[in-house]
Formats: sequence, C-alpha cells, structure tokens
Amino acid sequence: MATNLDYYAVLEVSRDADGTEIKKAYRRLAMKYHPDRNPGDAEAENRFKEINEAYDVLKDDQKRAAYDRFGHAAFEGGGPGGAGGFDFGGGGLGDIFEQMFGDMMGGRRGGRRAGADLQVQVSITFAEAFSGVKKQISVPTRVTCESCDGTGSADKNQPAEVCPSCHGAGKVRAQQGFFFVERPCPTCHGSGRLIRNPCKVCHGTGTVEKNRTLEVAIPAGVEDGTRIRLSGEGEAGGAGVTPGDLYVHISVEPHPLFQRDGANIYCRVPVRMTQAALGTEIEVPVVDGSRAKVKIPAGTQTGETLRLRGKGFSVLRSSARGDMYIQVVVETPRHLTRRQRELLEEFETEGGGHDKGSPESTGFFSKVKDFLEGKL
Ligand SMILES: [Zn+2]
Ligand SMILES: [Zn+2]
Repeated sequence: MATNLDYYAVLEVSRDADGTEIKKAYRRLAMKYHPDRNPGDAEAENRFKEINEAYDVLKDDQKRAAYDRFGHAAFEGGGPGGAGGFDFGGGGLGDIFEQMFGDMMGGRRGGRRAGADLQVQVSITFAEAFSGVKKQISVPTRVTCESCDGTGSADKNQPAEVCPSCHGAGKVRAQQGFFFVERPCPTCHGSGRLIRNPCKVCHGTGTVEKNRTLEVAIPAGVEDGTRIRLSGEGEAGGAGVTPGDLYVHISVEPHPLFQRDGANIYCRVPVRMTQAALGTEIEVPVVDGSRAKVKIPAGTQTGETLRLRGKGFSVLRSSARGDMYIQVVVETPRHLTRRQRELLEEFETEGGGHDKGSPESTGFFSKVKDFLEGKL
C-alpha cells in the first residue's frame, strides 16, 4: 500500500475542494484508470488503487480532517480503509461502482415486486350505463395454490429454502463490460427460493391459474370506452408479492331509440304533419323506462328540438344530470284516402302555401329569386 501519497494531488483537486468536486474528480479518474479499461496495465491498476485510497479518505469528513492535520500519521497502525488498508479485491469494488452507477443503470435494489395487471372487457347496455349496474365478471388470474398453501413445496415438512445463489434476493449482480448489472437469479428464476420437492399442482410456483368471479360496480353515467381500475385485483403473483391491478374496459351497446352525447340524450320523434301544424301533446319514451309528455307547439318544423330538462345521463362524480332532446321529424302522409285527398286539395286551395304560413318557403323562395336575379 502506498503510504506517502498526497491525496489531493492524486484526485487532482485543490485542498479546499468541496465534497461534490471530490466526488466528480473521483468518478472521472476512476473511469479513466479502471482495470477493465486498461487490461494488463500495471501502472493504471496502481493509479486506480491510489485514487480509491485517496477518495476513501477525502470523501469522509472525519478522515479528511484527520488527514489535513496529521497527514498519513493519522492512519498509522491500520490503513485508512480499515485493518487491511484499502481492499481492492472482494466485493469492495463492486459496491463502489454499484453505488456510483446503480441509479444510472436504471435502479438497483428494491422496487416493488408485483403481480401482473389484468385487463377485462365488459359490455353493458345503454340502459345499464344510464342506471349504473353491478356486473359479475370472470377474471383469469393466478391465485395461491391450495394444495401447498402457496409454499410451492409438495412436502409441508420440507418448505422452500432460501436460494443459495442469490441468498433470497432473486437477483444476481453480474459484470457487463465496465458496469455491474442485475439479472434475475438463474438458479431460482428470480423467486429467491429453492424448492427441493415441488408441488405437483403448481409446479413449485405457489400459484395456479383460475377463473375468479368478481363483482364490479359500474357507476351510473359511465361512457363507452371508460376504464375502471380495481386496485390489487390483478394477478396474485405468489407469496410475498403485491397483487397487480385489474382494469375493466367498458363498452356501451348502442340503443335503437337513443343517441348520446356526453350526458345528453337525443331521440328522434316522428310527428304527423297535421299534429305539427295544429299543435299537440305526445308521449315520448325516457331512457329510464318511463314516459314523458311533450307539448308540440302549433307550427313545429322538422328538425326543431324540444328539451326535457334533467332526463339525460348522470354526470360522473356529480349530482348533475344531462338533458334529453326530442328532435322532431314531421311526417308527410302516404296512401291517402279519397276523403283525405279532397281535404288536402281544399287546404291547398285555401292558400296552404301562403307566404306567412310557410316560414321555410318564404325564406327559401326569396333566396331563389335573389339567386336568379344574380344578387346571390
Ligand atoms: Zn436465486
Ligand atoms: Zn402448489
């Protein structure tokens, strides 16, 4: 072990460098002189040891203060790195690099182990979307194996052992070029456990595939394409694992009478020509299965819309309700009886098409006149 190094010179920093500067310098130099980058280069290896020795002292405020006051005498009777001085072998190096680059490599230890998320599609009727509904759904999922109580072992007296390769971590660290990366343990396939006598039912996994029935409460007002998340109702994933989530995708079947736009409902209602002319009251269906009376004013035209306040869908997470709109379609009668024909002819003679009585025509024909005269 080198004993008379100027640690500041080794790290190429000034004596008043702060912790960040020291760390930065160490990273740069350690990368440069790392033995993986300089295979067979004894000098680089030596430099690398010196850099680590210097950093070991300067990164630690107490050791640094002692070194500043007493120099190397501060560490006599043992190296700065402990009894054996700086230890280049063993796990020491790996730990340094794991600390330095672990985050960069996309996380190292920890991270929640979770079962898979599941997706199911549920189709409901227009009326069910209106009123809200509870649906039984069948979810294919992995559940705890009953045969072995999830232990995965056929013999309850010989439960799973901690995996000797990864000591239960489920992951092993491997060097890949310059970096250390974590991989699932090949011995236990990431479970961290080793089973000598696997359960015949679940093959040692502790879980089995099963259809689980679940009740989903679908709220009133739900729209086509809505996704509901049921936290923790996804795949079990085995012992010691947080279950995944279940996503229920809802599709709403179209309705032969009603269309929907947000919370509003639209319904086309045919009205006889005479009803539209004279005015009347009609009954219309409401999505909740009831009926509502609607006044059709005399002179109603095709395409005119009448509003039924509050007869639409519930607005999710609110007590508000949408409206229902009746779109009037005035019907022209076909297959007239002789008498009907006489009456309509009489109606026409009486001035059925007079200007004031036909608002659409008035506007239309005055525009036609303007068009033909070259004004439009
Ligand atoms: Zn293992
Ligand atoms: Zn089992």
